[in-house]
Amino acid sequence: IFNFSAGPAVLPTPVLEKARDELLDWHGRGMSIMEMSHRGKDFTGVIEAAEADLRTLMGIPSNYKVLFLQGGATQMFAQIPMNLLAGGTADYVVTGSWSKKAIKEAQRVGKARLAGSTEADAFTRLPGVGELSFDPSAAYVHLCTNETIHGVEMFDLPETPAGVPVVADMSSHILSRPMDVSKYGLIYAGAQKNIGPAGLVIVIVREDLLGKAAPTTPTVMDFSVMAENGSMLNTPPTFGIYLAGLIFKHLLAEGGLAAVEAANVAKARRLYDAIDGSGGFYRNPVAVDCRSRMNVPFTLADGALDAAFLAAAAERRLEGLKGHKSVGGMRASIYNAMSLEGVDALVELMQDFAARRA
Ligand code: PLP
Repeated sequence: IFNFSAGPAVLPTPVLEKARDELLDWHGRGMSIMEMSHRGKDFTGVIEAAEADLRTLMGIPSNYKVLFLQGGATQMFAQIPMNLLAGGTADYVVTGSWSKKAIKEAQRVGKARLAGSTEADAFTRLPGVGELSFDPSAAYVHLCTNETIHGVEMFDLPETPAGVPVVADMSSHILSRPMDVSKYGLIYAGAQKNIGPAGLVIVIVREDLLGKAAPTTPTVMDFSVMAENGSMLNTPPTFGIYLAGLIFKHLLAEGGLAAVEAANVAKARRLYDAIDGSGGFYRNPVAVDCRSRMNVPFTLADGALDAAFLAAAAERRLEGLKGHKSVGGMRASIYNAMSLEGVDALVELMQDFAARRA
């Protein structure tokens, strides 16, 4: 089967096979890693290796902490302002549904200002320099660097005031290519696309941003307390961390993020070429320079054919292609674990379907 779901999404088969083989008897210990104390040496070895491998993969500088938390990226929408606002104001750039949700949630916690939005253009492009206004005294600038629903990806960061940390929601494109972590004050990502199973969220935070949580912040939501306790103030999502660790090792063995990026570029090119070369039968509305390599929304010129297209896809065992209800049409999510073969199968379906209906 080829699974194009936006999330929870396809995971690498070799990793799932390894997890299956180790499920009942982890490293000859006679039980599952799921059944072991998070404070024992077996699991502490697992979390330490996961962190070390993520640091290698992403080139995370030593002045950043890596946290393995729960609550998903949505919980981070609230938890980030709790930890970073320190009574000030944050600037939010709204480029799609997820950054729009993030600012709304931040406004429940404290002061968050809209620094720019492309909503008037249905989130089909990124804002230009003249459309953004930043407050040089903001506590941080928040961006969603890949909007999963609208299929808009930032390849260059907007120019933001010096000294204002950039906070990025990378949920749907983390590990899809090398990123310069030092450009960010905080990076966060829900696991269920490129990292592993849902239930785990990763936060990478520069140390100088810790220790500023509002006094009302619940202890379990305080990043500095979590950092001091190695993400184990309470019981962490152990199985998710274990699986994420297997995925990090798998990506390192594949050649690291430069190799992952090359594969992702090839997949995205093939799919966008098929859309653009369809003579208008299929259409992606996003400006070419910010088309996501991970989430490719497209519509059929005749929306009445949507159901027939999805039925034809199901016949070929291509799943998860129905677009988000706010955008309509189709969406193919082609995360790291989607093969070029899977993209080819989709392109073949698109071409056959168009030829039959033309
Ligand atoms: N941010 C982005 C970019 C997402 O794609 C998603 C969900 O898929 C979320 C946030 C919300 O993540 P979660 O469901 O883990 O709370």
